[in-house]
Formats: sequence, C-alpha cells, structure tokens
Amino acid sequence: MAVHTRLAEVPLTRLDNADPELLGELLETVERVAGSARFTFGPELEAFEDEYADYCGATHAVGLSSGTDALILALRALDIGPGDEVLVPANSFIATAEAVSIIGATPRFVDVDPETALVSADTVEAEIGPHTRCLIAVHLYGRTAELDRVVSLARDRGLALIEDACQAHGARLGDRRAGTVADAGCFSFYPAKNLGAWGDAGALVTSDPHVADRVRLMRAHGERIRYHHEVIGMTARMDALQAAILRVKLRRLDGWNDARRRIGAALIEALHDAPVTPPAPLRPGTDHVFHQFVVRSDERERLRAHLAAYGIATAIHYPIPIHQTPAYADRARARRASGSGLGVAEDLARRVLSLPIYPAMTDEEIDAVAAGVEAFARC
Ligand SMILES: *Cc1c(COP(=O)(O)O)cnc(C)c1O
Repeated sequence: MAVHTRLAEVPLTRLDNADPELLGELLETVERVAGSARFTFGPELEAFEDEYADYCGATHAVGLSSGTDALILALRALDIGPGDEVLVPANSFIATAEAVSIIGATPRFVDVDPETALVSADTVEAEIGPHTRCLIAVHLYGRTAELDRVVSLARDRGLALIEDACQAHGARLGDRRAGTVADAGCFSFYPAKNLGAWGDAGALVTSDPHVADRVRLMRAHGERIRYHHEVIGMTARMDALQAAILRVKLRRLDGWNDARRRIGAALIEALHDAPVTPPAPLRPGTDHVFHQFVVRSDERERLRAHLAAYGIATAIHYPIPIHQTPAYADRARARRASGSGLGVAEDLARRVLSLPIYPAMTDEEIDAVAAGVEAFARC
C-alpha cells in the first residue's frame, strides 16, 4: 500500500478559539454579562431578538434554547398535534422529525430532489394525505430550497409551512432571507453552525404576531405575569450569555457567509477534474451559504480513508436517512410495506461526503483538499 505524505492538517471546521480577536471580544462580553448577573431574559436577549429580526427581515424573533425547541414551539404555535401528519424530508438532521414526534404528531417522510437534496413542490405534492397539516422544508447544508411553488401548494392544500433554517442563517431566497418565507422559521445556534453560540441556543422568526406571542408564552411556562400560567409551556428561552455572544457574532455573519460562498465556489472549481460530484449549481432565486460542502462519491468509504491519510477531515451528513434510524424504522416500515418511496434520500445517505469548509479557510487549505481528492483518482 502506498505511503501518503500528510500534506496538511485540514479540519472540518474551525470554531471561535481559532480567532484570537473574536475570542477576546467574546470574553469581554461574557465578563460584562456575568457582572450584571442578568442570566435570563433582560436587555441582552431583547437586543438580540430585535437585531436578529431586523437582520432576517422578519417582524419578530424569539430567542430559544435550541433549534429543536424552535421546531417544537413552531409546531405547537401553529396548532399541530396528535392525529396530524407533518411532512419532513427523509435526509435531514433527525431533530426535524423528532420535533414532530415530541408534540405527538406523525412525521411523514418525503423524498428530495436528486440534484439539490432538498424538498420541492414535486417531491412534496404526492405525499399530501387527508391528515397532512404541515410541511417542514429544510434548507439543508445552507442551500435554500425553492419555496415559491411550495408556498402556493401549501396555501392551496391548507398546510402550515415551517422552514428549518438551522443550517442556513442569512442565506437568500429571492429578495428575502431563509426563515422568513414560511409561517415560521427555525434556527439553531449550536456552536458549529454558521452563527454559533457557546453552547445550545436557537430562535424562531415569524411575521405573524399570534405565532410570536404563543412561542414567547410557551418558552416560559405559559406566563406573562410571574406564576400566572395561561398555557402549558416549558423552559425553552435563550440564555442572556448566549444572546450577548450571538450579538457580537451576528455583526460578522454576512462577512463569514460571503467567505463561505467564495470558498465553496473555489472548492468546486478546484475539484473540476476530481473523481467526485461537486455540489450542484444554484437554481434561480436560491442561495448557498455552505454550512457544509457536500460532494458525492460511489466509493465514499475508501475516499474517506484516503483523505484521512492525507490529514483532511471529513464527515457524513447524514449516514442513515431518518426513516431507517432505529428510532423511526418500525413506524416507517409499518406504513410503507412496498418500497420506501425514499430512494433518493437512501442513495444520498450512501454517497454524500462533507469536506472541510469554514470562513478562515486559506487558499493553501483549499488546494490541499482538492489535491487530496484528485490523488484518489490515481490510487
Ligand atoms: C442543528 C439542526 C437542528 C437542531 O438544532 P439544535 O440546536 O441542535 O437543537 C435541526 N435541524 C437541522 C437541519 C439542524 O442542522
């Protein structure tokens, strides 16, 4: 077997500790919030909500404890519950489906467009049944789904529409931002997302005051006035510390996303002779902020091992389609006795491979990734 020279160590992503200037600013922020001892609600959370709503171009943003909680509360605010079916792409992070199950509704898995790996009006329409009440469209990897026809379809068929924008902060959809086209948009600020906190946090954006009000109530035990509980809620608010950190990072988000777009394009260009299928070109009116840079390969496991030997980190998003995970397999099997109808999602799970991408990625690192993949063709 050939001995590979480790050309470079290229990680999958880099977090805030790799940027001394940002780290310094964030530590000062933490000190300020700690000095105020306002750890829940208060001015930092209110300011973040105003700034994030403004950034997204939505009327309301509600700071929450995670992206999963944002999805749960979006569904509850839209009155989805037991007996209702919610359409969910089979190739998302499992949280998209879990939120549906947690509120007692039933996820119905939908296949995706083979090129974009996203739901479209075509993949959704055939799955709408008599109990279908809602669709969650996921802007997976940071690529925005084409929602114009999906929005009309949802309106015609009386479905609520939620955007899972947990991987697409700031991405464009026509002249709007991801998360603001549907009845509600859900965001995660898990540390590795394009906008990441120092722990778990999330947000819901909406232009519907009723939805915003319900989510605000439910994130804090249904109380508007302390100990006067109007509805059954939970603890799902964003911590003030996370809000303060996110305010600092939000100011840099457009710059980081521009860098991701530029690096994504440079990687596609650099990989033009490489033995992988790069991310598909953008459809009109959509955008890609490259939360992940995902290629496809028929020899994924060998390619992964080869890249690991070159010092190039990779990951798989996601190795098992949701309906085939042990958590969901039994229910999905019961409903789909003859073929899953989810062949594209199943094929993608066998072939997708995420390569490194992050805003500070250097030209040398881009070249190292491309050289590593190209060398696979010769081995
Ligand atoms: C990260 C993510 C979530 C869940 O967010 P958490 O903050 O981890 O709860 C949901 N959907 C998608 C597509 C995600 O990437």
